[in-house]
Amino acid sequence: ASPSPKKQFSNVTVCSRFRPLNSKERKDHGGQVCVCRIDDETFVFKDEKEEESTFSFDKVFYEDSLQADVYEFIALPIVRDAVNGVNGTIITYGQTGAGKTYSMEGPNVLESDDMKKGLLPRVVDGLFEHLASAGDSIKYKITLSMVEIYMEKVRDLFDLSKDNLVIKQNKDHEMLVSGVTEIHLSDTGEALQNLHAGIQNRAVGETQMNLASSRSHCAYIFTVQPVSTRDRGRTGKLVLVDLAGSEKVEKTGAEGKLLEEAKTINKSLSALGNVINALTCSSSKSNHIPYRDSKLTRLLQDALGGNSRTALICCCSPSTSNSSETFSTLRFGTRAKHI
Ligand code: ADP
Ligand code: MG
Repeated sequence: ASPSPKKQFSNVTVCSRFRPLNSKERKDHGGQVCVCRIDDETFVFKDEKEEESTFSFDKVFYEDSLQADVYEFIALPIVRDAVNGVNGTIITYGQTGAGKTYSMEGPNVLESDDMKKGLLPRVVDGLFEHLASAGDSIKYKITLSMVEIYMEKVRDLFDLSKDNLVIKQNKDHEMLVSGVTEIHLSDTGEALQNLHAGIQNRAVGETQMNLASSRSHCAYIFTVQPVSTRDRGRTGKLVLVDLAGSEKVEKTGAEGKLLEEAKTINKSLSALGNVINALTCSSSKSNHIPYRDSKLTRLLQDALGGNSRTALICCCSPSTSNSSETFSTLRFGTRAKHI
């Protein structure tokens, strides 16, 4: 029998990913899980009161999913298109501890075990492979910038002295982070070393400012530019974003800085949800897309809109003990996709 026809790949792909239970969760709630697999696109979610709801996504990655499968389904089509000048965005969303950074980086970006390697090292491999196979007809240049957005301030992770960069749009409607460091990457090894350095810098800056990485967004911005200026139209931008934790901060407990952080994160995450939702539903092109509502959506404006591909990975704990955060993550994913 021939396989059933594959669903059309829309420009916005929304997936959910459940990591394995951790050792604490295996003890809490008797190791009870909130997710019951139906197939690769649908599962039943059960909350702590045993109430059930069914969720469907373009793809569901369960706890036995492989890093390579996540790359192949989510990132490979975006990498292929970036080489052809189509912009792309890959976003990890979810509460702190749900597996966003593991999906993005793996244990770290220099990890050599292929079972563990995350999206970033695979994207880098993919970009260089595709350029190599494109042959000598067009020469490309790949660049990398890394920025962190904390409390609506954009910080350069390759130069921590640039801690309040301005996002601008040029006359070609490309979004630029004015003055950000752009590193020219000539091979995979160099790319990984630079990613690693940027991530290390993030930790250093955070320690200095007494912050936690879970309270800021981190964006990895790759551009693939044809070297010849005649091919300028074919520049592709590929942005990977490891978002701040989506967890609700206890309303009663939080005050001062913590409350301000929580409000800012909440505002930028809902702006992101609104933008993705508007893009998914924009059958009528007149739709207003609210990019200006946050630095994050402003930064991603040209990578999310127009001729582009977007993938959202909703990262979840499988434990019943986290079911209320998981439910809200799944709702975010569903809302991003539908009205
Ligand atoms: P987040 O970035 O969302 O805060 P992390 O990616 O740091 O969460 O994940 C939290 C912990 O769970 C880490 O110790 C990480 O190694 C582990 N983890 C996350 N996802 C997986 C997975 N798919 N397989 C194995 N371990 C995972
Ligand atoms: Mg993280």
